[in-house]
Amino acid sequence: MSKTIQWYPGHMAKAARILADDLKVVDVVVEVLDARLPRSSANPVLQELIDGRPSVIALNKFDLADLSVTEAWVRHFESQGRKAVMISAVDGKGIRQLIQKAKQAGAPAMDKLIKKGIRPRPVRLMIIGIPNVGKSSLINRVVRTASTKTGDKPGVTRGRQWIRVEGDVDLLDTPGILPPSLPDQKSALLLGICGAIKETLYESGEAVMELIRQLEVRYPGKFQQRYLKGRSPEYQSLEELLEQAALSQGLLGREGVAQTENMARMILADFRQGRLGPVSFEAPGEK
Ligand code: GDP
Repeated sequence: MSKTIQWYPGHMAKAARILADDLKVVDVVVEVLDARLPRSSANPVLQELIDGRPSVIALNKFDLADLSVTEAWVRHFESQGRKAVMISAVDGKGIRQLIQKAKQAGAPAMDKLIKKGIRPRPVRLMIIGIPNVGKSSLINRVVRTASTKTGDKPGVTRGRQWIRVEGDVDLLDTPGILPPSLPDQKSALLLGICGAIKETLYESGEAVMELIRQLEVRYPGKFQQRYLKGRSPEYQSLEELLEQAALSQGLLGREGVAQTENMARMILADFRQGRLGPVSFEAPGEK
């Protein structure tokens, strides 16, 4: 049975209040999305919060996503006049390019300051996204390559610090966190599959079925290759396919009954460990 997705306006309001304070002192927002799910890992409320401020989209975990699909997402966002870069926060790929794009995005604001006769200062960046998209990993990665911490600045909430990334770029050391937007059950399942939301928010059995369905639609043959020794039996339902996989993997209970629950757990674990190879669940242009 489906779990009802809970939408807590209170959570959103609280997150927005906290962010609003930091945003006052930020020139450019780096919105981190999961490259496998750029739609479901976005929270549309962010655009309202940043209120016209320049932003750059970081499609993180691109190492786990289908490269051609992530490239299509970059083109898609750019066709909308938005800046986007694919990155991998764990291995550092794309981060230099991200910083360059953020700097470009902040350039008009810096020019304005100069025209007003205000002494030029570094462009100030802040990283924002829903939980688990890799915000902290990105900050840690940047810190390792950054020159110095520059200490508190007036107007920044106490405890927050700026990291001097380059001579002319500062990054707030604490990310902004937004709750996932969860517009529908499918988004919740996709976020669940990718380990981005708590297990209380989705039903793991349904998540596995969604994972198998996604693989069948987007990567035909992948499931059979891994779990059915390359055989492609006829099947009437995804449950039947799961059962076939359990039989093929020798997951048998008493009287030879297929242990589909164990099989489901194995599939989810395999996916999360990256053993199914790169997978993208959302492509631009789809509903
Ligand atoms: P946050 O909640 O947004 O700060 O997310 P974290 O930085 O804690 O990352 C969540 C998980 O995703 C951690 O297990 C990270 O190791 C992993 N992760 C973050 N970035 C990447 C990436 O680019 N590639 C891969 N494969 N894993 C990543």
